[in-house]
Amino acid sequence: MPQAQQIGSGCHGHQDDKGDRDIRLAACALRAVRCCKGDGRDAHDQGRYRERLARTDRLAQRASSQVEQEHQAKREHRLHDRERGESQGGDLQAEARHRQRDSGQPATAAGERGEQSRPPRKRGADAARLERLENVRPLVAACRDRGGSDAERQARPDHCEHPPMRLSLLAAGTAAAWSLPGLAPLIPSVSRLLAIPRRLPGDGVALTFDDGPHPQGTAAVLAVLDRFGAPGTFFLTGEQVERAPRLAAEIADAGHAVALHGFRHRNMLRLSPGAVVRDLRHGQEAIAAATGRAPLTYRPPFGIFSAGGLAAARREGFEPILWSRWGCDWAALATPASIAAKVAGELRPRDVLLLHDADHYSAAGSWRNTVAALPRIIEAIEAHALRPERWPVTSA
Ligand SMILES: [Zn+2]
Repeated sequence: MPQAQQIGSGCHGHQDDKGDRDIRLAACALRAVRCCKGDGRDAHDQGRYRERLARTDRLAQRASSQVEQEHQAKREHRLHDRERGESQGGDLQAEARHRQRDSGQPATAAGERGEQSRPPRKRGADAARLERLENVRPLVAACRDRGGSDAERQARPDHCEHPPMRLSLLAAGTAAAWSLPGLAPLIPSVSRLLAIPRRLPGDGVALTFDDGPHPQGTAAVLAVLDRFGAPGTFFLTGEQVERAPRLAAEIADAGHAVALHGFRHRNMLRLSPGAVVRDLRHGQEAIAAATGRAPLTYRPPFGIFSAGGLAAARREGFEPILWSRWGCDWAALATPASIAAKVAGELRPRDVLLLHDADHYSAAGSWRNTVAALPRIIEAIEAHALRPERWPVTSA
């Protein structure tokens, strides 16, 4: 593809402006994706597979260190502005008051000048940079369309209207090296490249529930699972566990698997690796305090990993996992029938089904549809001569 060659040709070139650097990183990441499309043919060539993983890891480390440097530069810039504001405090305060009087808008204090008072020239440069990076987006789309074998494409779950996922795709076009792992829920070859499991290691089908515990939603899901004698895997958020610790303990005591969904429910693409580590530790501590288990199995909010966040999670000993089918049960327009059809319409052995037992971060009352769909889903699993299984979570 001529466009790809043109963009990727500067992969190891000299440092120039940030926009060109992002384009080179995106091209490198996309080369890695194109490379991984051969995994089916090279499944037994472990040496080459390890080399690809190492190459991707180097890309992730490079992107991580550059993002850290940018965060540090922003911190220093804010500090510099604040110091300047203090030294010129009187003048700037007066200027702010004048602006407020003239515009009728609240004044911006010297120390708060940032995005709001960025000069127009800088905003124009950002727009131009984004426009240039638009060239990368077709490559991401092409990769998504072509990735994997025919059988894998047929088995690929439907894409839902999921705002964070759309954000992930957009982000992949603007800083692909950093956000490439964010595509893993949508592109099996990316999750395989990054060694993020989407399917059970054994037979059976895993019923997994994110975002809990929830006083009504979790209790209702537990009742259905108990009625069918089906085990589940609950990816808990630490902040909700702190609000309902007894409910978290009830999940574990009922024999279900307990895993981590972060402490807060934030998009990892917006977090530094350090913030990801703090969130993981905080969430793990909250769950351990409530259930006596410190989970090391982790699925991030929205299923979105950043390159640096994924590497940081692994350094902390966490095992990342995703899913193979989702019910889009978070959406306001979802119904029990639509959820059951999406999640269990074309079941295969080893599928991991994504559901939600809470509406803390989705449409109000959405858990009611999930609870109503759950008996149909379990019956569909049994109709396929399969059985519900826990994800084999690990704990510290
Ligand atoms: Zn979630």
